[in-house]
Amino acid sequence: MADEKFQETLYKGWRTEYTCAEVYFDSETDHQRLIIFRNPDFGRMMMLDGITQTTEADEFIYHEMLAHVPILAHGAAKRVLIIGGGDGGMLREVLRHPTVEHCTMVEIDPSVVELSKEHLPNHSAGAFDDPRTNLVFADGAAFVKETTDRFDVMIVDSTDPIGPGEVLFEDTFYAAARNCLAPGGVLVTQNGVPFMQPDELRNTVAHLRNLFADASCYLATIPTYVGGPMALGWATDNPDLRNVDETVLEERFKKLGVKTHYYTPAVHKAAFALPGYISEIIG
Ligand code: SAM
Repeated sequence: MADEKFQETLYKGWRTEYTCAEVYFDSETDHQRLIIFRNPDFGRMMMLDGITQTTEADEFIYHEMLAHVPILAHGAAKRVLIIGGGDGGMLREVLRHPTVEHCTMVEIDPSVVELSKEHLPNHSAGAFDDPRTNLVFADGAAFVKETTDRFDVMIVDSTDPIGPGEVLFEDTFYAAARNCLAPGGVLVTQNGVPFMQPDELRNTVAHLRNLFADASCYLATIPTYVGGPMALGWATDNPDLRNVDETVLEERFKKLGVKTHYYTPAVHKAAFALPGYISEIIG
């Protein structure tokens, strides 16, 4: 019998098809259709509503770049907030920083957490049991509106602006997110692949520029987010954080003493250099 195949349906006129060697879960949760299966090239992978979320093979790129860039640029982050991130990979990378004393993660869909623990255990690698973790099941947009907690770094590890993730791309969300940041705090966001999703990046950066002294994006190339580099949004009231010297980043990274497979201080610096077409999108 031929292998089953799953098509990603994110883009209007371009389909990526994944061969499925084994299905671990395929059903509707209360919020979305969740599939976890194994692909011969990418290992175990998860799709939500037909959109690739994460794979065992390339998750390190996305998680290292959304966690280590803001935390090492900030230099003294003690409190971190993750919105989304149900697979636990972001939590794992954040908690590799011993200086982080507390991490709240707000995920809308408990099934993503439970099924990721079961079928993608290397993503969280025990991070949900870390005493510094505060796992909240709620809509991230409602959480940031209501909380009185303040965070040094906030990471929006969301789905694309379709379904439950749509609210995480609205100006009201970004305004409430700003209020959750401690002075000098930094917000980073998953912002799609600009070559294919230019409006997503254009809108986010426009909203962020209305709210913060400094807003831009940086880039990471993640094979399963096809169509060129992915944009990660960046916003803070401290413009110096985008220009921390490489020598300072090297010192902080050396002190951290963790092995990464994509992040290096040189890659951190270079990630903020934008190709012409991406600078034109954000204006
Ligand atoms: N790396 C992924 C990507 O770029 O596609 C993101 C992965 S992570 C699994 C995204 C998570 O965001 C999902 O678990 C989803 O349930 C969660 N999510 C979507 N909308 C949300 C909301 N409004 N509040 C909190 N979490 C949300």
